[in-house]
Amino acid sequence: MIRVYNTLTKTKEDFEPLQAGKVGIYLCGPTVYAQSHIGHMVGPVIFDSIKRYLQYSGYDVTWVVNITDVDDKLIVKSREQNISMEQLATEMTADYLTNLESLGVDQIDVMPRATEHMQHIIAFIESLVDQGFAYNVEGDVFFEVEKDEHYGHLSNRTLDSTQGEGGEAAARKRSANDFALWKSAKPEEPSWDSPWGTGRPGWHIECSAMSREILGEEFDIHGGGLDLVFPHHENELAQSACCHGKPMVKYWMHNGLMRAGGNDGKVGGRAEQDGGDDEQATVETKISRSRGAGGLADLIDRQSGQRIRFFLLKSHYRSTIVFSEAGIEETGKALTAFERLFERFQRISGKSFFELPIADNKSTGDFDAGECDFLLQVQKHRAQYLAKMDDDFNTGGAISDLFDLIRSVNRFIDQTSLESTDNADVTNGASLEQAMLTMRELTALLGIFINEQPEDDTMGEEQGLTEQLMQLMLALREEARANKDFATADRIRDGLLEVGITIEDRADGAQWHK
Ligand SMILES: [Zn+2]
Repeated sequence: MIRVYNTLTKTKEDFEPLQAGKVGIYLCGPTVYAQSHIGHMVGPVIFDSIKRYLQYSGYDVTWVVNITDVDDKLIVKSREQNISMEQLATEMTADYLTNLESLGVDQIDVMPRATEHMQHIIAFIESLVDQGFAYNVEGDVFFEVEKDEHYGHLSNRTLDSTQGEGGEAAARKRSANDFALWKSAKPEEPSWDSPWGTGRPGWHIECSAMSREILGEEFDIHGGGLDLVFPHHENELAQSACCHGKPMVKYWMHNGLMRAGGNDGKVGGRAEQDGGDDEQATVETKISRSRGAGGLADLIDRQSGQRIRFFLLKSHYRSTIVFSEAGIEETGKALTAFERLFERFQRISGKSFFELPIADNKSTGDFDAGECDFLLQVQKHRAQYLAKMDDDFNTGGAISDLFDLIRSVNRFIDQTSLESTDNADVTNGASLEQAMLTMRELTALLGIFINEQPEDDTMGEEQGLTEQLMQLMLALREEARANKDFATADRIRDGLLEVGITIEDRADGAQWHK
C-alpha cells in the first residue's frame, strides 16, 4: 500500500485514488518570463518519478503541468525586450521544455497554457460570481474570502493573515483578504473580452480552471513547492471547492525548496509572503548565477542532466535541497559505481545493461530466487527499495538500497570469479543477469540510466586520448613489474592516485577508473 503525506491533513495517508486504478496529478508549472533555473526542475523531476512509480504500481496516471503565459512579469519583461508577450512566452517555454528533456522528465501528459483556456477561466469566474462567492468592482473581479468557511485550512492560517496585497486594486476590495480573479486591462496591455470588460485573469484562477477542464472538478494529487501553499494553493482550493461544493483535491503534496549551499537563499521559487497584487510575488530571493539560479543550460552542459536528476532525487522530496555544484559533482562520482558495474556486467556477459528489458510493473519484475543466497539478497534489496517508495515516495532511501544492491552484485562477481574466462559458470551467469534485470527495473523507476548517455564529440575525442595514454601507463607499469622494478611500478600507481585515478588489478588485466 502506497502512503502519501497530505499537507491538508498533515498526516501520511493510505493512497486510494478517487476512481479505482486511475490517478490525476496537477503540478503548478512555471510562469514563462525568464529562462528556467535549477529550482524550477525540482517539482518536475520529483513528480516524474512519482508518476513512474504509480504506473509501475498499476495505476493509469494523467499528469498535468500548466504554463502561465500571461502575467505582470511577462508584460514587463516583454516590454523591456521590445517583443510581444506571446513571443517571450514561446521562447521561455521552449527553454523550459529543453531543460525538462535534459533531466529526463518525459512523463508529462498535458501542458495547458493559460491563454489557451481563457474561455474556461472566464466561465469559472462567472460561476463564482453567480453563486455569490465573487464580486465585480468596475471591471475587477474579486473572490470574497469570508464566504469560504474552510479558508485557511490548507496553509493553517486564520483570516487575519492577509493576502499582503497592495496596489490600486486593493482599495476596491471589500476586505484585504479578498483576491483578484479578473483584472481590468490597463492601456496597451494584452487583454481578453469578458462579461466585466476587457482584462486578464489572476494567477490562481488559471489553475482552478485548467485542472477542472483536464482532470475534473475533483482529482487525486495536487503538487507544487512549499512556497505555493499560501496564497496560491489556498486560493485555488477556495475557488474550486466553493464553485463545486467538493474538496477539489484528495492529496496535496508539497516538495521542499532548494536553497543555495551555505546560506539561507532560496534558489528560485517564490517569496513566502506574497507581496504582489494577487500574482506571484515579484520579490524572489536574489541568487547569483554562481549560487545556482540561471545558467541551467550551462550547468547541464557541465554536469549532465542525469547527474542533476540524481542529485535532486537523493533526498526526500519534502526536505530542503541544498544546492551546490560541488554537491552535484559528488553525486556524479557516486554514479560511477553504477557505470563500473554496468561495464563489469558487459565484460562478463557481452550484454549491454541498456539493452536489458525494463520490467514495467511489480509482478513482471518479480522472480524466483530458488535456493540461491545471492538472489535472495537481491530480492531483499528490491523489497526494501519498493517499501521506501511505497512510504511517501522516499527516493533518497530507495537510492541507498540501490547502492546496497551494487555492493552485493560486486561481491558476488568477486566471489564467483565470474570475470575470469575459465570460470564462466552458467548458473552464476544467469544469477548475475537476474540481478542486473532488477537493477534495470529499479533505476528506471527513478528515470536514471534509461539510455546510455550520449557523449558529445569533443568529450569523445578527449576520452579517446585519455584512454590511449592510460593504456600506455598501464603497459609501462606492467613492464616494470615484469622486470621486478617495483619502485617504478609503485610510482606509476601512486602518481596516478594523486591525480584521482585508481588502478585495479583484475584477473583479466589491470583496469583504471577515476
Ligand atoms: Zn497553480
